[in-house]
Amino acid sequence: MNVKAVADKNGYYGEFGGAYIPEMLYNNISELKSRYLDIINSKEFRDEYMQLLKDYVGRPSPLYYAGRLSHHFGTRIFLKREDLNHTGSHKINNTVGQIILASKLGKKRIIAETGAGQHGVATATVCALKGLECIVYMGATDVERQARNVTLMEMLGAKVVPVESGNKTLKDATNEALRDWISNPESTHYIIGSIVGPHPFPDMVTRFQSVISLEMKSQLKEKTGSEDPDYILACIGGGSNAAGAFYHYVENENVKLIGAEGGGMGAETDLTSASITTGRPGVLHACKSLLLQTTDGQVIEPYSISAGLDYPGVGPLHSYLHARGRARYYSINDDDALKAAKQMIELEGIIPALESAHALALLDKMDFNSNDVVVVNLSGRGDKDLETYIKRFDDE
Ligand SMILES: *Cc1c(COP(=O)(O)O)cnc(C)c1O
Repeated sequence: MNVKAVADKNGYYGEFGGAYIPEMLYNNISELKSRYLDIINSKEFRDEYMQLLKDYVGRPSPLYYAGRLSHHFGTRIFLKREDLNHTGSHKINNTVGQIILASKLGKKRIIAETGAGQHGVATATVCALKGLECIVYMGATDVERQARNVTLMEMLGAKVVPVESGNKTLKDATNEALRDWISNPESTHYIIGSIVGPHPFPDMVTRFQSVISLEMKSQLKEKTGSEDPDYILACIGGGSNAAGAFYHYVENENVKLIGAEGGGMGAETDLTSASITTGRPGVLHACKSLLLQTTDGQVIEPYSISAGLDYPGVGPLHSYLHARGRARYYSINDDDALKAAKQMIELEGIIPALESAHALALLDKMDFNSNDVVVVNLSGRGDKDLETYIKRFDDE
């Protein structure tokens, strides 16, 4: 089996990916496509990127042996602590990379889309760092639900634009950002927040997040004597933290790669975000991938308790890894994620992001041996989810 984590030159992973763009986006995308690899592989770029990851983001993020959790599950569990990064999640790995790229492309104006606001905050942060103008599109419904992150973005100097079209959530914000990019091709770079959208975004964002598994290799070697774990578990919204955690292991079939989708109220219900488990191939935001859709091809509005997982599609890399059987994907329901979060807080004193709690809930679904090495990618911290936790833990 010849399964790779990089896209071919047209942006495909098997039948998934590509750039299904309107004519008017052609120039923006071709500029990026023709230049991104040369820029991000240059020594000048690497030096600045690695320096900022170290001194600004706080990398390498620790690989923590979770002793009490391990004891509970009868195996050896390590947590890759992306929750300890500046701004509280893995998203900053990507925005730091893209802001340097944007500077090298001579762009002065940055746009982004955001759902829960985490990517918006990470983008506003690096725009402040570089002194660039920042506009964040956010569904009007999300602007109301995520007031704290809106305040943070504004404090960081970003302009938050509420989007009133459609369901007024992430999908509509992404449409609006693409529209802005079409109108402002010369001045503007669009920082997409996950491994979705037209080529080269999925490939580029995957490369920026791949630092996660790069660090894992040396950290595991030091702690266990081998670079290779038996399992890597990660949650899947668009799929960027999982792609980063899987990247350097995709071609090594001894390592089992497992993803957790937002099951919501259940993959068999209408209230779900499980696009790999229940979706069919389709095109959304200029990219072909598995997609939640009705029989006549209408996109179904996704639902998950976790705002970072409720996207109706998924990165084409994951659709491909799923189709080839290289990674396995489970749908994790809201209740199981909440239970896993509570367990993590009680056993380890770590409050995980609700998204990451979905990855933790996988621990209960697997059949581990006592000497297996299991890495859970802890994509973010739970500060942003306190209201949900307080409300839902009280109900029990
Ligand atoms: C945004 C987010 C996710 C989901 O995005 P991916 O691209 O799937 O990684 C997961 N965890 C946290 C903490 C997030 O902020």
